[in-house]
Amino acid sequence: MALFEPAWKTKNENKARAAARSVKRIDSPEQLNEVVIKAPLWQTKAAAIERLKDITKGSYQPDERTRMGSLHAVDMEQDLYADEAFTWYVRRMLEGLPADRVSEFVLKANSEDIRYWALTFISGEEDLIRLGSAPALREKQREEVLERLEFFCGRKPRDIAEDGTLPMVLRSAAAKKAEEEEQREAKLTLREKEAEEKRKTCAETGHRMKFVRLEYVRGGKEQLYRCEVCGEEQRLFYEGNTDSV
Ligand SMILES: [Zn+2]
Repeated sequence: MALFEPAWKTKNENKARAAARSVKRIDSPEQLNEVVIKAPLWQTKAAAIERLKDITKGSYQPDERTRMGSLHAVDMEQDLYADEAFTWYVRRMLEGLPADRVSEFVLKANSEDIRYWALTFISGEEDLIRLGSAPALREKQREEVLERLEFFCGRKPRDIAEDGTLPMVLRSAAAKKAEEEEQREAKLTLREKEAEEKRKTCAETGHRMKFVRLEYVRGGKEQLYRCEVCGEEQRLFYEGNTDSV
Protein backbone atom coordinates (compact mmCIF):
# COMPACT_ATOMS: atom_id res chain seq x y z
CA MET A 1 0.00 0.00 0.00
CA ALA A 2 1.24 3.46 -0.92
CA LEU A 3 2.37 5.61 1.94
CA PHE A 4 0.74 8.77 0.64
CA GLU A 5 -2.50 8.13 -1.13
CA PRO A 6 -4.26 10.92 -3.03
CA ALA A 7 -6.98 12.54 -0.89
CA TRP A 8 -9.72 11.54 -3.36
CA LYS A 9 -9.18 7.84 -2.55
CA THR A 10 -10.55 8.21 0.95
CA LYS A 11 -13.46 6.08 2.12
CA ASN A 12 -13.85 8.18 5.25
CA GLU A 13 -16.99 10.35 5.12
CA ASN A 14 -15.35 12.82 7.54
CA LYS A 15 -12.69 13.54 4.94
CA ALA A 16 -15.19 14.07 2.09
CA ARG A 17 -14.66 17.84 1.97
CA ALA A 18 -10.90 17.58 1.76
CA ALA A 19 -11.29 14.96 -0.96
CA ALA A 20 -13.60 17.22 -2.97
CA ARG A 21 -11.13 20.12 -2.55
CA SER A 22 -8.22 18.00 -3.76
CA VAL A 23 -10.13 17.24 -6.97
CA LYS A 24 -10.16 20.96 -7.80
CA ARG A 25 -6.41 20.83 -8.37
CA ILE A 26 -6.65 18.21 -11.16
CA ASP A 27 -6.49 19.65 -14.68
CA SER A 28 -6.58 16.59 -16.92
CA PRO A 29 -10.00 15.37 -18.14
CA GLU A 30 -8.75 11.76 -18.20
CA GLN A 31 -7.56 11.94 -14.60
CA LEU A 32 -10.79 13.57 -13.47
CA ASN A 33 -12.81 10.84 -15.11
CA GLU A 34 -10.65 8.27 -13.38
CA VAL A 35 -11.63 9.92 -10.09
CA VAL A 36 -15.30 9.67 -11.10
CA ILE A 37 -14.83 5.96 -11.76
CA LYS A 38 -12.65 5.05 -8.79
CA ALA A 39 -13.44 7.44 -5.93
CA PRO A 40 -15.17 5.55 -3.10
CA LEU A 41 -17.25 8.52 -1.89
CA TRP A 42 -20.16 9.87 -3.88
CA GLN A 43 -19.29 13.50 -2.96
CA THR A 44 -15.83 13.05 -4.45
CA LYS A 45 -17.31 11.72 -7.71
CA ALA A 46 -19.69 14.68 -7.82
CA ALA A 47 -16.85 17.18 -7.38
CA ALA A 48 -14.87 15.49 -10.16
CA ILE A 49 -17.88 15.57 -12.51
CA GLU A 50 -18.39 19.26 -11.76
CA ARG A 51 -14.77 20.04 -12.57
CA LEU A 52 -14.73 17.81 -15.66
CA LYS A 53 -17.72 19.70 -17.01
CA ASP A 54 -16.06 23.05 -16.28
CA ILE A 55 -12.66 22.43 -17.80
CA THR A 56 -13.94 20.64 -20.94
CA LYS A 57 -16.71 23.24 -21.37
CA GLY A 58 -19.16 20.35 -21.50
CA SER A 59 -17.57 18.60 -24.49
CA TYR A 60 -15.76 15.60 -22.98
CA GLN A 61 -15.69 12.71 -25.51
CA PRO A 62 -14.12 9.47 -24.21
CA ASP A 63 -14.10 6.10 -25.99
CA GLU A 64 -16.82 3.46 -25.66
CA ARG A 65 -15.08 1.43 -22.94
CA THR A 66 -14.59 4.50 -20.78
CA ARG A 67 -18.22 5.51 -21.28
CA MET A 68 -19.39 2.09 -20.06
CA GLY A 69 -17.10 2.15 -17.02
CA SER A 70 -18.18 5.70 -16.20
CA LEU A 71 -21.88 4.88 -16.31
CA HIS A 72 -21.44 1.82 -14.12
CA ALA A 73 -19.41 3.92 -11.66
CA VAL A 74 -22.21 6.45 -11.13
CA ASP A 75 -25.06 3.95 -11.25
CA MET A 76 -26.41 4.17 -7.71
CA GLU A 77 -29.93 4.08 -6.43
CA GLN A 78 -29.58 7.60 -5.07
CA ASP A 79 -31.92 10.22 -6.53
CA LEU A 80 -29.69 12.41 -8.64
CA TYR A 81 -32.19 14.25 -10.76
CA ALA A 82 -31.55 17.57 -9.06
CA ASP A 83 -27.84 17.45 -9.82
CA GLU A 84 -27.30 19.27 -13.11
CA ALA A 85 -23.69 18.19 -13.51
CA PHE A 86 -24.65 14.56 -12.96
CA THR A 87 -27.32 14.80 -15.65
CA TRP A 88 -24.82 16.33 -18.05
CA TYR A 89 -22.36 13.51 -17.28
CA VAL A 90 -24.84 10.68 -17.73
CA ARG A 91 -26.16 12.09 -21.00
CA ARG A 92 -22.66 12.73 -22.32
CA MET A 93 -21.60 9.15 -21.56
CA LEU A 94 -24.73 7.63 -23.10
CA GLU A 95 -24.54 9.79 -26.20
CA GLY A 96 -21.65 7.97 -27.87
CA LEU A 97 -22.88 4.41 -27.21
CA PRO A 98 -24.59 2.08 -29.70
CA ALA A 99 -28.30 1.45 -29.14
CA ASP A 100 -27.90 -2.09 -27.75
CA ARG A 101 -25.53 -0.81 -25.06
CA VAL A 102 -27.88 2.03 -24.21
CA SER A 103 -30.78 -0.45 -24.01
CA GLU A 104 -28.85 -2.43 -21.38
CA PHE A 105 -28.91 0.66 -19.16
CA VAL A 106 -32.64 1.14 -19.71
CA LEU A 107 -33.17 -2.44 -18.55
CA LYS A 108 -30.56 -2.92 -15.87
CA ALA A 109 -29.43 0.37 -14.33
CA ASN A 110 -30.05 0.71 -10.59
CA SER A 111 -30.58 4.44 -10.90
CA GLU A 112 -33.99 5.49 -12.13
CA ASP A 113 -32.36 8.60 -13.62
CA ILE A 114 -29.98 6.58 -15.74
CA ARG A 115 -32.83 4.34 -16.94
CA TYR A 116 -34.79 7.46 -17.82
CA TRP A 117 -31.99 9.25 -19.69
CA ALA A 118 -30.91 6.08 -21.50
CA LEU A 119 -34.35 5.71 -23.07
CA THR A 120 -34.20 9.27 -24.41
CA PHE A 121 -31.32 8.14 -26.66
CA ILE A 122 -33.31 5.40 -28.39
CA SER A 123 -35.54 6.41 -31.26
CA GLY A 124 -35.06 3.83 -34.06
CA GLU A 125 -38.06 1.60 -34.71
CA GLU A 126 -36.22 -1.73 -34.49
CA ASP A 127 -34.38 -0.69 -31.33
CA LEU A 128 -37.58 0.50 -29.69
CA ILE A 129 -39.45 -2.68 -30.59
CA ARG A 130 -36.63 -4.88 -29.29
CA LEU A 131 -36.48 -2.91 -26.05
CA GLY A 132 -40.26 -2.73 -25.66
CA SER A 133 -40.45 -6.52 -26.05
CA ALA A 134 -37.93 -7.29 -23.32
CA PRO A 135 -39.73 -9.01 -20.42
CA ALA A 136 -37.41 -7.30 -17.90
CA LEU A 137 -38.49 -3.79 -18.94
CA ARG A 138 -40.46 -1.93 -16.25
CA GLU A 139 -44.07 -1.31 -17.24
CA LYS A 140 -43.79 2.46 -16.92
CA GLN A 141 -40.91 2.45 -19.40
CA ARG A 142 -42.76 0.09 -21.74
CA GLU A 143 -45.38 2.84 -21.94
CA GLU A 144 -42.68 5.37 -22.72
CA VAL A 145 -41.35 3.08 -25.44
CA LEU A 146 -44.85 3.00 -26.95
CA GLU A 147 -45.00 6.79 -26.82
CA ARG A 148 -41.65 7.01 -28.63
CA LEU A 149 -42.80 4.49 -31.25
CA GLU A 150 -45.74 6.74 -31.98
CA PHE A 151 -43.78 9.98 -31.92
CA PHE A 152 -40.67 8.95 -33.88
CA CYS A 153 -41.95 6.10 -36.04
CA GLY A 154 -45.65 6.86 -36.46
CA ARG A 155 -46.64 3.48 -34.94
CA LYS A 156 -49.85 3.98 -32.99
CA PRO A 157 -50.61 1.71 -29.99
CA ARG A 158 -53.68 0.24 -31.75
CA ASP A 159 -51.60 -0.69 -34.79
CA ILE A 160 -48.91 -2.32 -32.61
CA ALA A 161 -51.55 -4.21 -30.60
CA GLU A 162 -52.89 -5.74 -33.82
CA ASP A 163 -49.55 -6.55 -35.46
CA GLY A 164 -49.28 -10.35 -35.23
CA THR A 165 -45.56 -10.33 -36.03
CA LEU A 166 -44.71 -8.58 -32.75
CA PRO A 167 -44.11 -10.23 -29.34
CA MET A 168 -47.12 -10.56 -27.05
CA VAL A 169 -45.63 -8.58 -24.16
CA LEU A 170 -45.40 -5.47 -26.34
CA ARG A 171 -48.76 -6.07 -28.03
CA SER A 172 -50.69 -6.39 -24.78
CA ALA A 173 -49.10 -3.24 -23.33
CA ALA A 174 -50.04 -1.46 -26.56
CA ALA A 175 -53.61 -2.77 -26.37
CA LYS A 176 -53.94 -1.46 -22.81
CA LYS A 177 -52.61 1.94 -23.84
CA ALA A 178 -54.87 2.11 -26.89
CA GLU A 179 -57.92 1.30 -24.75
CA GLU A 180 -57.04 3.98 -22.22
CA GLU A 181 -56.65 6.53 -25.01
CA GLU A 182 -59.93 5.52 -26.62
CA GLN A 183 -61.74 5.82 -23.29
CA ARG A 184 -60.26 9.25 -22.70
CA GLU A 185 -61.30 10.30 -26.19
CA ALA A 186 -64.87 9.08 -25.60
CA LYS A 187 -65.07 11.09 -22.39
CA LEU A 188 -64.29 14.42 -24.06
CA THR A 189 -67.27 16.69 -23.65
CA LEU A 190 -69.11 18.06 -26.60
CA ARG A 191 -67.57 21.47 -25.98
CA GLU A 192 -64.06 20.06 -25.97
CA LYS A 193 -64.81 18.26 -29.22
CA GLU A 194 -66.08 21.48 -30.77
CA ALA A 195 -62.98 23.37 -29.63
CA GLU A 196 -60.82 20.59 -31.07
CA GLU A 197 -62.68 20.81 -34.40
CA LYS A 198 -62.13 24.57 -34.52
CA ARG A 199 -58.44 24.18 -33.80
CA LYS A 200 -58.19 21.66 -36.64
CA THR A 201 -59.98 24.05 -39.00
CA CYS A 202 -57.61 26.84 -37.98
CA ALA A 203 -54.60 24.59 -38.55
CA GLU A 204 -55.72 24.29 -42.17
CA THR A 205 -57.10 27.74 -42.91
CA GLY A 206 -55.01 29.85 -40.52
CA HIS A 207 -56.06 31.63 -37.33
CA ARG A 208 -57.95 34.90 -37.38
CA MET A 209 -55.89 36.80 -34.88
CA LYS A 210 -57.37 39.91 -33.28
CA PHE A 211 -55.55 42.33 -31.00
CA VAL A 212 -56.77 42.09 -27.38
CA ARG A 213 -54.52 44.21 -25.18
CA LEU A 214 -51.04 45.35 -24.28
CA GLU A 215 -49.40 43.65 -21.28
CA TYR A 216 -46.40 44.73 -19.24
CA VAL A 217 -43.70 42.10 -18.91
CA ARG A 218 -40.07 42.07 -17.83
CA GLY A 219 -38.05 44.34 -20.11
CA GLY A 220 -40.94 45.78 -22.10
CA LYS A 221 -44.43 45.10 -23.30
CA GLU A 222 -46.29 42.34 -25.06
CA GLN A 223 -49.17 42.58 -27.47
CA LEU A 224 -51.76 39.89 -26.84
CA TYR A 225 -53.68 38.53 -29.83
CA ARG A 226 -56.49 35.97 -29.73
CA CYS A 227 -57.99 33.95 -32.57
CA GLU A 228 -61.64 34.78 -33.10
CA VAL A 229 -62.42 31.25 -34.21
CA CYS A 230 -60.63 28.90 -31.82
CA GLY A 231 -59.40 31.15 -29.01
CA GLU A 232 -55.70 30.39 -29.40
CA GLU A 233 -53.50 33.20 -28.04
CA GLN A 234 -50.28 34.66 -29.36
CA ARG A 235 -47.96 37.16 -27.74
CA LEU A 236 -45.69 39.54 -29.58
CA PHE A 237 -42.88 41.13 -27.65
CA TYR A 238 -42.60 44.86 -27.93
CA GLU A 239 -38.91 45.91 -28.02
CA GLY A 240 -37.82 48.24 -25.18
CA ASN A 241 -39.85 50.13 -22.66
CA THR A 242 -41.00 53.59 -23.76
CA ASP A 243 -42.05 54.56 -20.21
CA SER A 244 -38.53 54.45 -18.84
CA VAL A 245 -37.26 57.45 -20.85
ZN1 LIG B 1 -57.74 29.77 -34.53
